[in-house]
Order: sequence, then structure tokens, then C-alpha cells
Amino acid sequence: MLEENISAISTPAGKGGVAIIRISGKNPLSIAEKMFRPVGKTKVSDFEPYRMYPGRIDGGNFDDYGLCVYFKAPASYTGEDIVEFQCHGGENVARGILKQTFRLGAKPAGKGEFTKRAFLNGKLSLASAEGIADMINGESDAEVKAGFLLYSEQLTKKVCEIQSELKTLLAGIDVSVDYPEEDVEEQHVAELSVELETLRSKILEMTATYAVGKKIKSGVTVAICGKPNTGKSSLLNKLLGYEKAIVSDLAGTTRDAVEGVLEIHGRKFNLYDTAGVRESGDKIENIGIERAESIIRSADVAVFVADLSEGMDEEDGKVLEMIKNKPLIKVFNKTDLTNDETLTDADVHTSAVTGQGIEKLKELLYEKGFGARSEDAAFLIEERHYEALTRAEERLRSAITACETQPLDLIGIDVKEAWDALGEITGETATEAIIEEIFSKFCVGK
Ligand code: GDP
Repeated sequence: MLEENISAISTPAGKGGVAIIRISGKNPLSIAEKMFRPVGKTKVSDFEPYRMYPGRIDGGNFDDYGLCVYFKAPASYTGEDIVEFQCHGGENVARGILKQTFRLGAKPAGKGEFTKRAFLNGKLSLASAEGIADMINGESDAEVKAGFLLYSEQLTKKVCEIQSELKTLLAGIDVSVDYPEEDVEEQHVAELSVELETLRSKILEMTATYAVGKKIKSGVTVAICGKPNTGKSSLLNKLLGYEKAIVSDLAGTTRDAVEGVLEIHGRKFNLYDTAGVRESGDKIENIGIERAESIIRSADVAVFVADLSEGMDEEDGKVLEMIKNKPLIKVFNKTDLTNDETLTDADVHTSAVTGQGIEKLKELLYEKGFGARSEDAAFLIEERHYEALTRAEERLRSAITACETQPLDLIGIDVKEAWDALGEITGETATEAIIEEIFSKFCVGK
């Protein structure tokens, strides 16, 4: 496809060692010819692809020494010819060079436009493009890993296999509809039903991974609850390894829910320190308490913290009552202040001062959030993929039921709809609106 040249800075805004300006389109080399002077006698028009050439880059009002590389279509990221300049990583340096590419005819690239072109040129599937976004936005190793599996077309491969089998079944249905033979049809429907069931269970296997995949992407939400002054903020800080929450001796000072993101075995946990849950006449504190209650409602795991040196009382009981339906970890804190072992009903004894029990608390958090440790397999992490697979599974279920009572052509409609739903994942049947929405979440320059 011969598209107009687009260009953008591909490195993030701000100062850095190096910045990259990328031009993709029908003839980016003709722009490079006018703004890049290679060292020695080499001419830009003689550039070998995939080789770095040192030289002088024209930034409009200034020059910079840098590098230029040419990627030849179709063996490039976008599938088009690409030229990249590497210059010094000053914001004005990169911007000046970018502006020069505009002066020479390139258009500013929109959000994700390079990747969108790659998709439209068949370089990658829609799911793969989403994997790139997941890798870029990933806040934990597990999320980046899952993004890479998507990017490397693992999901697309599985989906395409199912689609191809559905296509074969559809072809068989078409033949039977066109050339009906009573006794052959009955056997055909029986076989068809079995094959549809096999494909359906393959889809179910995939959708079953979303429960974990969803948590990998958004993180496990943890509400740290307990009476004021039991050490919730201090424990949060100890878990995060840096001072985040405000720690104070005054009961009820943690008025806002403070969030911190913690990685345990490569997976993300969003920690919320709830305001001291207790009855209070203080208006601001009451707002904090309401917020705490709402955090507790949406939390995946609740951590209950009691002060070992003071023991448990009625107020602790009230907190426990609020979180009794949640996966719960009972923590008795401040072990450094007492040897009192009467409060034995704890999952872990901790000290935010000495760090005792913190590692065990992390292990318990992982266990409550994800269960036993497992390999990072190909989890579904995108809701869009989960929904499309669920729709495909529903259509197949309907087709299987239809096998008992309905004529073949009606069964065929369900099978075709299942195929279409799967095509949304790869992009084959995705609407322009879906495609637009996906690429609008990318940054400019990707
Ligand atoms: P919160 O109201 O539950 O968030 O409690 P804070 O984290 O603000 O802690 C209240 C007070 O207890 C502060 O003075 C902390 O320094 C102290 N504290 C917290 N955890 C421990 C601990 O494990 N041992 C000791 N000795 N003091 C602690």
C-alpha cells in the first residue's frame, strides 16, 4: 500500500540519551536525502537497509550528529518503507528534526498510526497489536509477559485453528444443504455435534484463564483494614519498601485511602490503606470511613490488622464483621512490643519496625489473590477477547442444541456467527469502530 509519509518522535517526551524520529510511508528515503548528510561518500539513495549510518541531521535551525537507518518494505514494522533518525535526546533537538520532516512533506502521525498501518498491511493481528499496548503499559512482569504472548500471536494462532475447523464444518454443512440425502444427513448431524462440542470445550479452556488474566492486568485489590493505630500505614510502607502512607500516633489520621502498587512474584497488587474504621463525630473522618467501606466492598482480599500489644476488643470485632465475607488475612502487628502469645488466631505475626513476618504476609497475599504459584501461561488478559470468545462459545452451544431439532442450514447460521465472533479477536471481522478504539489508546510514535 503506498500511503503518505507520516512521522513522529517514537521515544518518550523529556530529556534522555537518545531520541528516535520515525518516518513511514511510500518514500521516507526521499525525505532523508534532503535532511541527512552521511559521513564520507555514501549517499542516502545508496543506503543498504537495516544498517546504521552516521551523519549530520538537519533540525531546521540547527544540526545534530546522529544515526540513520532504513527499513525496506515489506520487512519493516509497518510493512512500508521506514527511515529512523537517532539524535541526541533533548526535547528541542527531537522536535526540531521532527518539524524538518514535516517541512519536507511528512504528515504528523496519529496515535498508534504506525501499528495501525502494520495491522492494515497484515504484519500483525489486532490481538497482537493489543499485546504491544499491554507490554508498553504493563506494570508488572506478568502483565508484560502476557502482553508478549499476545504480541507473538499465541492467541491468534489458537483462535485461527478453531476458525479453520469451523470453516471446514461450514463447508460440509453447505454441501449437505445443497445435496440433501436423508440417511447421510442424520449421521452428519451426529458427527457435527461431537465436533462442535470439542471446539466449544477448547474455547471454554481459554475463557477459564480470564479469571487470573484479569487480575494480572488490573492487579489484585487489597484493603488493609483495622482499628486506628494498629500499624496499617506502617505495614503498607514496609510492604512497599518506601514511605508512602502518612504514619502518625494520632488515632484516625489516615483519612484518605492511600494506594500503593506492589509486585509479588511478578504479579501486581493494589494496596489500599483504609481510614481507621471506627465511629466518629468528625465529618472529614466519616467521609474517610465511607470510602474505606467502598474499598472493602470492591477488594479481592482484606488484610485485618490488630495490635498484638493491646489485644482484641469489641471494635476489632466490628472491623472483622465488615470483612467477614472476603478472602481474609489476619495480621497481629507490633510483635516487637510484646511476647504475649495469647492472640494465636493470626495468619501471621508482624512487626512494621523489625520487618518480622513481612515476607510471609506477601506469600499469603499471593496465595489469597491467585492460589498456589503456577507458571505464567497464556492467560486471557483483555476483556474484549474474553467477550468475543464467550459469544463464540454461546453460538456453538446454540448450534449443538440445534443439532437435535433444527435443519442443517439453521445450525450453519450459529456456526458462522461463532466464526465471526472469533474473527473480532484477530481483526478479520472487527468493525472500523473497534479498530479505531484500540489504536486510539496507543501513544503517538507507536
Ligand atoms: P494506622 O493508624 O493503623 O495506620 O497505624 P500507623 O501505621 O499510623 O501506626 C500507628 C503507630 O504505631 C505509629 O506510631 C507507628 O510508628 C507505630 N507502629 C506501627 N507498627 C508498629 C510495629 O510493628 N511496632 C511498633 N513498635 N510500633 C508500630
